[in-house]
Amino acid sequence: MTYPIIKLKPRKLQSIERRHPWIFSGALSGDLQQYEEGQPVHVADERGQIRATGHWGAGSIAVRVLSFDQVEINVEFYTTRLQNALALRKAIGIADNAETNGYRLIHGEGDGLPGLVIDIYKDVAVIQMHSKGMVEDVAMIREALKACYDNALLHIVEKRADHKREQTPKLEVGTPPGTEILENGLKFYVDWLTGQKTGFFIDQRENRALIGKYAPGRKVLNAFCYSGGFSIYALKAGAAEVHSLDSSEKAITLVDAHLKLNDLQESNHTSICADAMVYFNGAQARDARYDLIVLDPPAFAKHRSARHAAVQAYKRLNAKAMEIIEPGGILITFSCSQVVTPELFNHTIAAAAMECGRSVRILRHLHQPEDHPVSIFHPEGEYLKGLVLCVD
Ligand code: SAH
Repeated sequence: MTYPIIKLKPRKLQSIERRHPWIFSGALSGDLQQYEEGQPVHVADERGQIRATGHWGAGSIAVRVLSFDQVEINVEFYTTRLQNALALRKAIGIADNAETNGYRLIHGEGDGLPGLVIDIYKDVAVIQMHSKGMVEDVAMIREALKACYDNALLHIVEKRADHKREQTPKLEVGTPPGTEILENGLKFYVDWLTGQKTGFFIDQRENRALIGKYAPGRKVLNAFCYSGGFSIYALKAGAAEVHSLDSSEKAITLVDAHLKLNDLQESNHTSICADAMVYFNGAQARDARYDLIVLDPPAFAKHRSARHAAVQAYKRLNAKAMEIIEPGGILITFSCSQVVTPELFNHTIAAAAMECGRSVRILRHLHQPEDHPVSIFHPEGEYLKGLVLCVD
């Protein structure tokens, strides 16, 4: 198989030498209009030596690098990448774990496959494609998955994430609309058909487990709860009372299903379907006297251009939570916006604390878990950050 060879402009080798997985169009020479989005290409240095193979991207990221060698992108290539990814998850006790059978197998650049996410839910794989190249290669990826799991997967579901909204997943005949998984011994129903992202926010697995440490005896507000993960963990750990809040009715239905699934329907729990800011501004929130609040909003900024507005929104939201929390209360606050760096997030939370005049201490820094690895050459892959705060 021969792929087009695109030459770098003079002195544009630095990014490849630093093994950054994106090559921008400004670094490439020649007529770039001739390539089709998604097709595999090689990138060569000034002397003509091939330095990378990747998918052509058409936008400002012209090439998403799949290898820093001259390779053929075929089933064998994907099988090796998937096998390496699975070996890592097994080595660190995430795959083949009796207590947890939902995990991320492929986390884009962090697993050497820009544009691709694969989540495993027990015996179902959900493939999410973020680039045209991955859409074009999905048949090979399916083959690689089958080889990697020795045909033990019952279903492989395809979800194509375009920039605006996720499209309906492609299902095989007879695929159930979801599956029940175990996470740290708790049960969750993952609805990949109509659920958000691939159906579940696996990236909060460890942070959800951590809430067990702070929840006993506390009155908890789980804001932006989606299917109620933090609430289930808090109740199991002995929270005095839990309120789960989300603006999506569908999410609230999932919370109720999860209470039942985990034998918690008799517990001290209330579901609230409301906009978080509206709720925080109302009397109910002020009078509730929460002493543990979780804030896990959706990404307020998907692009750099929206960063300033996002920072303001994080500040307002966190200031509101700090305003109503009881003295000595624990605030667990997150941002999953890639463009908001951990440093910027810390500054934003400091600004919120200043605004509401409370004294706030950082108890812990939180991150995405190990099945969402970050290539050290691609710090942009670190997207989830959080803080455990004590608000006095
Ligand atoms: N913490 C969850 C994941 C949260 S995802 C977990 O552990 O699974 C973000 C959630 O915020 C989504 O469920 C979305 O419906 C909800 N949401 C988005 N905008 C909101 C708003 N303005 N008020 C309340 N909830 C909102």
